[in-house]
Amino acid sequence: MKNGIYIVATPIGNISDISERACAVLREADVIACEDTRVAKKLFSLLGIPSASKIFFKLEDHTEAAQAGKLVELAAAGKSIALTSDAGSPLISDPGYKVVRRCQEAGVYVCAIPGPCALICALQLSGLPTNRFMFAGFIPNKDKARADLFNKLKDIDATLIFYETANRIVKTLAMAAEVFCGREVAVAREITKVYEECRRGAAAELTAYFAEHEPRGEMVFMVAPPAEKADSGLDVEALLREELRSCSVKTAVKNLVERFGLNKNEVYQLALRLKDE
Ligand code: SAM
Repeated sequence: MKNGIYIVATPIGNISDISERACAVLREADVIACEDTRVAKKLFSLLGIPSASKIFFKLEDHTEAAQAGKLVELAAAGKSIALTSDAGSPLISDPGYKVVRRCQEAGVYVCAIPGPCALICALQLSGLPTNRFMFAGFIPNKDKARADLFNKLKDIDATLIFYETANRIVKTLAMAAEVFCGREVAVAREITKVYEECRRGAAAELTAYFAEHEPRGEMVFMVAPPAEKADSGLDVEALLREELRSCSVKTAVKNLVERFGLNKNEVYQLALRLKDE
């Protein structure tokens, strides 16, 4: 394998999601740059890849800049380095970006081995518009910082995606109800694991759900784009046809207007036309 740095995505729950290419790189790499060496060694053991001869190099957020230099030296000395995170795609709310930058500046070969990424799987499961989205990382813990972040992002014409934890999701939903009033939200949790689920609805509906079902596991929180902009990415006619299969015109219109914040009169006219067809 060519010396350089290989950004290797690993499973976010289901070990079978590792790619053949990722396995090949992990098998051949001399150095494994990882967040937690125990987690990385466990992955090797689950994959049945021998790790005794490999150098495990712990990469941490706060010392990444200094460690990047060492990784560049190792690559320059002819070593191949696999950059992994505890789970999912490295660099996405995980360390690695400074390493990549330093390697590029030093002329070290950099290669991405794609694979699972929690935010992409969550978006796919959400049923929210995918034509334009913005990933905003972890939601801050403090109430004011959370409110400030939501207010800063609320007018962006895109589906918003955040990483969140189970013990904070109810507070986040309450704040979302205030700031993103009327917009659909979604929570995807335990993706690729036994209890995988994704719920979409009004923030109040999801709050009620989590009051009955204790929030658990890893989760991703998403918010639909602002109403007047959301319809640009929607096939309203197709959605309406689907609704009209099981509902009256009145109910179908009501459902879509509430769900996507569409113009009631326009949707009503379209519904009448479709009903007549
Ligand atoms: N780099 C990883 C990625 O993008 O795939 C994410 C690492 S970040 C430190 C961890 C966060 O990702 C978790 O707190 C959670 O918000 C999200 N996450 C990771 N695995 C998940 C899963 N299986 N289901 C839902 N969310 C997950």
